[in-house]
Amino acid sequence: MARLNAGAGAAILPAMPTQPRIVSVLLPQPLPEPFDYELPEGLSASPGSFVSVPLGPREMVGVVWAERGIPSNRKLKQVQSVLEAPQLPSNMRGFIERAAKYICAPMGNVLAMAMRSREALEEAPTETLVVSTGASPDRMTPAREKALAHATSPLSAAELARLAGVSSGVVKGLVEQGALQQVERSLDPPFPLPDPNRPSRDLTGEQSETSTYLRGMVKEESFRVALLDGVTGSGKTEVYFEAIAQALQDPEAQVLVLLPEIALTQAVTSRFEERFGAIPAEWHSAAGSAARRRVWREVAAGRARIVVGARSALFLPFRKLRLIVVDEEHDQSYKQDEGVNYHARDLAVLRASIEPCSVVLASATPSLETLQNAQAGRYVHLRLHARPGMSRLPDIAIADMRASPPEANRWIGPQLASAIEQTLAAKEQALLFLNRRGYAPLVICRACGERLKAPDTDSWLVEHRYSGRLVCHLTGFTMDKPRHCPNCGAQGSLTGVGPGVERLAEEVHTRFHGAKVEVLSSDTVASPEDLRSLITRMETGAIDILVGTQIVAKGHNFPTLTLVGVVDADAGLRGGDLRAGERTFQLLLQVAGRAGRADKPGRAIIQTYAPESPAIALLAAGDRDAFVAHELDQRRLVGLPPFGRLGAVIISAPSAEQVDEAALAFSNGQPNTSGIDVWGPAPAPITILRGRHRRRFLIRSDRNVDLSAFLAAWKERVKLSSAVRLALDIEPYSFM
Ligand code: ADP
Repeated sequence: MARLNAGAGAAILPAMPTQPRIVSVLLPQPLPEPFDYELPEGLSASPGSFVSVPLGPREMVGVVWAERGIPSNRKLKQVQSVLEAPQLPSNMRGFIERAAKYICAPMGNVLAMAMRSREALEEAPTETLVVSTGASPDRMTPAREKALAHATSPLSAAELARLAGVSSGVVKGLVEQGALQQVERSLDPPFPLPDPNRPSRDLTGEQSETSTYLRGMVKEESFRVALLDGVTGSGKTEVYFEAIAQALQDPEAQVLVLLPEIALTQAVTSRFEERFGAIPAEWHSAAGSAARRRVWREVAAGRARIVVGARSALFLPFRKLRLIVVDEEHDQSYKQDEGVNYHARDLAVLRASIEPCSVVLASATPSLETLQNAQAGRYVHLRLHARPGMSRLPDIAIADMRASPPEANRWIGPQLASAIEQTLAAKEQALLFLNRRGYAPLVICRACGERLKAPDTDSWLVEHRYSGRLVCHLTGFTMDKPRHCPNCGAQGSLTGVGPGVERLAEEVHTRFHGAKVEVLSSDTVASPEDLRSLITRMETGAIDILVGTQIVAKGHNFPTLTLVGVVDADAGLRGGDLRAGERTFQLLLQVAGRAGRADKPGRAIIQTYAPESPAIALLAAGDRDAFVAHELDQRRLVGLPPFGRLGAVIISAPSAEQVDEAALAFSNGQPNTSGIDVWGPAPAPITILRGRHRRRFLIRSDRNVDLSAFLAAWKERVKLSSAVRLALDIEPYSFM
């Protein structure tokens, strides 16, 4: 419940008795700016206060954005109440304004991301506990004695009765007698405090040099960005721990560590606990509302000192943010491209510039954007070249599938098959990587050639055998596999084409008898617990061959994993969007890096039909720098990111006529500006999504053009009907 703040005399605004006090309030709605409200006598609020206000027929919580000097001559609605929540700090409000401008989103939508935990704005719930007062009851009984013996520290009445083996009446009687007292305790206890002065590992020479640099940078307390570029397993985490330790020397400083969603496993939090003696606060989409409330409030109060979270943690209301680490900064999951489109790495840098604070971008395969920023001197470039101790990087070999193809309806070629045999004989583990969920990516009718599509979306249905369903991977739509072809009616003619991980596992089962095989994909590990237990099975050798999608690429260390087989290295190169080569190179290098982490040397075998493509040839040659130089040259030639900016406009409507009309109207409204190229409108590759027809524009500008402002101005000039939706995407990663 919203609580009234009856702060008599505590009013911060000058209370002119004759003039109403006006505040502008930003609401977490698709609204571009705050609305004015009158703040009634007796209520006290200042910028950052959470207030409840009427909007149409509803009451809604928003944030006071500014105090207005001039009273309005309109009759304004009144602020209903001021919430007893911590204020939204001014840096955070500045961040929301700047982020909204940059990503071309209504400010209210960005505020909504900062208010993701509604419960946090209400008072934290408490529980009633009982504890001994030291006084004796009038009459001591054996049951009372037992209860008092257990009541030396606060417990719930039920828990005390259970522990002491007495009835609840006994506990109640002791309370009435004054031998036990009731105490209220918040259900949101503070997070344990990290200790930055616990000893770190013995760092290697280059680790120690790098961490000394980062410590110095954090100490400056200004806006600085470092790219921590180190091969997989080179100790980037150990090194950024030193930067965190430095930041925490300030007893009020807070640190945010962003991780790709899937990497938020217990293994990661355990490493923080080992280094700092305390589990960090965690923020991710799977967290329940109570957990989110606790994190939000503790962050706002400045008590949560280390927060480890997925991209949306960037919108938490830190009081004194001193360091942001973006681990695996190249990871695609930092880009949100539904709802509010933003890239968490880019916004992390924006947020840091406002705080101001330091940023560490860590990766073994940094994005070209970040590498270019480092080359241009905007970011400092720190490199770790070696794995500590005995651990060596795997050798990468190419299996040319044109020269030695697999048998029909098989996907493991002879070279990879014999490497698997050798690995099993040596009692070591193998990982087979195929970035396709399910059994077969396409279902066709052998009689008429029909390809099964989702009913309301222009995408093929994927056959899943484990669940026995056909699934649309774009929308989540599922259905049973039909017995008859929906087009020609032929019976039993529908057949899956191509491999997914389930089909690959089937091949492994039939070819490597006795091997223990498991599949790791988002379908087989539905929860963090599932993932944890699978990782344990892998670590303890209960799995010989793991077949996995890109989930396996991220950060797991398996000591006896010595062979990585990439089944279809070309998969990501097809379709060929701007980043296809870059993404393939990053993903394959990350996957290959899973092999040979301990003292056993590892190897990776890459099956490809295009061994001459730069991403694959240079990966096998182990020459990342050459690949980066090649990609950058290509992009420089055509002025694409990171040498130019890109924006996308996606227009959608219920019918093809409506969307074409809207796209034409939008096209005609284009402002006249130089340094900008507009391509489109064109039908989007996914022409229909959830029943809506889609058209796209792609806009390229030079780096010195404010593309966000251009797109915002364009959108402003064109009025579209309410059936039409228009989405803007700055620096798009998806071109679908
Ligand atoms: P990255 O983040 O670069 O992949 P990690 O920090 O996860 O690397 O380190 C990889 C492995 O090497 C981890 O198990 C880590 O504990 C270990 N490690 C890193 N640095 C050292 C060191 N100086 N001494 C011993 N082990 C180390």
